[in-house]
Amino acid sequence: MVRTPRCEGTFVMDADEHPPLHCDDSRMKYDHSKKLSGASTDIEQLYQAVPQLANVFRIKGKIGEGTFSSVYLAIAQLRGGHEEKVALKHLIPTSHPVRIAAELQCLITAGGQDNVMGVRYCFRKNDHVVIVMPYLEHESFLDILNSLSFEEVRDYMFNLFKALKRIHYFGIVHRDVKPSNFLYNRQMKRYALVDFGLAQGTPDTKIELLKVIQSEAQQEGLESLHVQRSVFGERNFNVRSSASQDNSTVKLIKQPRVTDIAARKLLAKKKTTSAVTNGLVKKAASSCPTNVTCDCYAKDRVCSVCLSRRQQVAPRAGTPGFRAPEVLTKFPNQTTAIDMWSAGIIFLSLLSGRYPFYKASDDLTALAQIMTIRGSRETIQAAKTFGKSILCSKDIPAQDLRTLCERLRGSKTSFDVLTGDGQINLSQEPALQAEIFNISEPALQTSKKHLQYQKPSCHERDGLVIRTSEKPANLGWDKVPDEAYDLLDKLLDLNPATRITAKDALLHPFFKNI
Ligand code: ADP
Ligand code: MG
Ligand code: ZN
Repeated sequence: MVRTPRCEGTFVMDADEHPPLHCDDSRMKYDHSKKLSGASTDIEQLYQAVPQLANVFRIKGKIGEGTFSSVYLAIAQLRGGHEEKVALKHLIPTSHPVRIAAELQCLITAGGQDNVMGVRYCFRKNDHVVIVMPYLEHESFLDILNSLSFEEVRDYMFNLFKALKRIHYFGIVHRDVKPSNFLYNRQMKRYALVDFGLAQGTPDTKIELLKVIQSEAQQEGLESLHVQRSVFGERNFNVRSSASQDNSTVKLIKQPRVTDIAARKLLAKKKTTSAVTNGLVKKAASSCPTNVTCDCYAKDRVCSVCLSRRQQVAPRAGTPGFRAPEVLTKFPNQTTAIDMWSAGIIFLSLLSGRYPFYKASDDLTALAQIMTIRGSRETIQAAKTFGKSILCSKDIPAQDLRTLCERLRGSKTSFDVLTGDGQINLSQEPALQAEIFNISEPALQTSKKHLQYQKPSCHERDGLVIRTSEKPANLGWDKVPDEAYDLLDKLLDLNPATRITAKDALLHPFFKNI
């Protein structure tokens, strides 16, 4: 039944192999009516765009939507009336063909074992591509974060490293490791790393198409083939997500959808030029009035001009809060170590009970937030090793990871404080300013921007308290071994050259009796 997926044909399965579809809604455990609003027209459009889907699948509802894809839950009708839940990932028709093929090749080559999502079939009609994967029902990370036992967290991290070890073996750098791309079925203890939409190859990658992407990107001297997607344009319709999660989703400005690769290249070029000519990086999405100059540079407060700036969407792959320091400082030779950093950020959330841990909308803010945990001197020192110089207006000491996590987790109640417009309040901590530049470059060509230092946790402030959770009884959190924090420290190693690998993480004493 399972065939090698291919992308070039219209049909991968023959229609006559399958009995006609029949509607049996009683099999559906979940009420998708809420999620279906607005999605039903999308479903109709998908059936129209790729008509052969209707021969095989009954699409039940949308379960995920990002800038570059929509994911649906569907029931596949198999021989003998057998049914199987599948996830249909419909890529936006303007995706670059090499990008699509590379994503598929990652799933085919590395997927299907060791907690890496596999692929069943692929359908294509014209420029519409639908990737069919086994469906893994999964939790919303935020919903379960504060009820997880320490043992569950240990298992979660072990299984994440298993997946990362596998893809890194194939020379795949995922580049977008975060909870929504690592599906977790708590009851069944099943895990799956998904979403190779931003993956890149190491120089010796076994994924041929990632080599193509690599060389094309190098030729361009731009990140033209890296899918640029809105970090916050993502919506998640997790089956198990609660209403509170929808409320807590921060409303952010969507980056205008860039509809084709040529336009993307143009956009990237324009941005580069403006950065050079102005000496300041001005993001296209910023609504900061250009004629007003701000007066808060090097002061420990943020002026009204800067406060009125719209949140910026980083023009590069990944999610700022999960990006490694070498990604944030645009170090060109990025390795699989960047995924290990992201895994460290997930671990930090799990140990501290806070998610998202870093909520940054741009790279410099993200870097400043890293400094608040790992120390400014340490960050500056590490960046030097890969040829980047960071100027920072304040000296911030590194924090002890155990003390930090216990303090955050230990508070009786955790608050997510929202202001009226759904934005999480920034704390009124002193502003921190930083500059990054290549050591070889004169400082004048650097990007300069004001940074607001946001404490990782939200404090009790005016506003709406949308979630409170009692401290879990005894889930093993009273005796977290030192090994946990030692592993966390090795994952959040600011220097990618010495950061722990997935293979070594699995052998870390933290996992000794797994
Ligand atoms: P995108 O590139 O748009 O982020 P993803 O591949 O990450 O697309 O999928 C988006 C969301 O869809 C995931 O966060 C997850 O909730 C859901 N999803 C994706 N693949 C599956 C799957 N195989 N089973 C269940 N849900 C899935
Ligand atoms: Mg994703
Ligand atoms: Zn200012």
